[in-house]
Amino acid sequence: MKIGILALQGGVIEHLRLVEAAGAEAKIVRYSQDLEDIDGIILPGGESTTISRILNRTNMMEDLRNRIIAGLPVWGTCAGMILLAKNLSNDDKVDGIKTMDITVRRNAYGTQIDSFNTLVNVPEVSENEIPLVFIRAPFIEETGKNVKVICEVNGHIVAARQDNMLVSSFHPELTSNTDFHKYFINMCK
Ligand code: GLN
Repeated sequence: MKIGILALQGGVIEHLRLVEAAGAEAKIVRYSQDLEDIDGIILPGGESTTISRILNRTNMMEDLRNRIIAGLPVWGTCAGMILLAKNLSNDDKVDGIKTMDITVRRNAYGTQIDSFNTLVNVPEVSENEIPLVFIRAPFIEETGKNVKVICEVNGHIVAARQDNMLVSSFHPELTSNTDFHKYFINMCK
């Protein structure tokens, strides 16, 4: 099982560490050809504007989008969620992958100082409570009919799944809890 991690900008090493801790092989993905032999891909947190700009400039956007449409399992965390959303309610600077039927609000909780941690039950993912870290996080405002809500915090949707696509507003890779990574690795089987 080989999980790719898109490594253009953002929290790459943290995901790599947790993928390995969860028992899979991790592979850094920088170019289109790196997409060829992976079983799934993680789009890390970072700056969605920057990541989308690099993807578009290198033509990797189209290859990545096509692989996802063809069924490659993908997990977008935070900025990665913004990239996968078909619609953004408050932004036109991100020209993303746009494959998932969700409407997302960027920086939905405010600025950096409004970042927060919480402990939540996510029955779809684990029997135990999971620590969730939110950093200038987005949340989901609307979901299409094929989207399954996986986690809500304070009435806002912060994790969801549609077929081969998983998104989370928060950063499991910034904790030592591997439950979300194990859930995604299972999606890749
Ligand atoms: N606010 C960032 C963006 O809009 C996302 C922050 C994150 O990934 N932690 O891309």
